[in-house]
Amino acid sequence: MRIGHGFDVHAFEAGDYLMLGGVAVPFEQSFRAHSDGDVALHALTDALLGAAGLGDIGRHFPDTDPAYHKVDSRELLRHSIALLHERQLHCSSADLTIVAQRPKLSPYIDTMCGYIAADLQLDITRVNVKATTSEHLGFCGRGEGIAAFAVVLLEEI
Ligand code: MG
Repeated sequence: MRIGHGFDVHAFEAGDYLMLGGVAVPFEQSFRAHSDGDVALHALTDALLGAAGLGDIGRHFPDTDPAYHKVDSRELLRHSIALLHERQLHCSSADLTIVAQRPKLSPYIDTMCGYIAADLQLDITRVNVKATTSEHLGFCGRGEGIAAFAVVLLEEI
């Protein structure tokens, strides 16, 4: 078995929704990012690549490459899963934590889990997404952006 950990942050800019876990969450700002800015999926993708010893998301999908401008982060996730499968590695568990003072994410968690389970080709009972505030502390607490953490377990097929 192999364990991977991922972390990502994106700041806000003017906008009207946030992409989180593949879900467009209505909000009064959006993420400043080259891609769709989905911090949750970026943390998860980094965890998967890390567990497989494949570096990180920036190495595979550089933010200087116009091909990834406004890219759907679920595509990056599925591409990373394909890289794992080529190496006979299967993700058997994923746990994510999104740190956001606002918006309230609980209405969207089940949909996020469904999208992630589909992209990981995994039973939904093996995917977990949590949301927490940071008690008004730090950049998340001040509403400057959102952070996400992910831990995954890989097994050889
Ligand atoms: Mg990112």
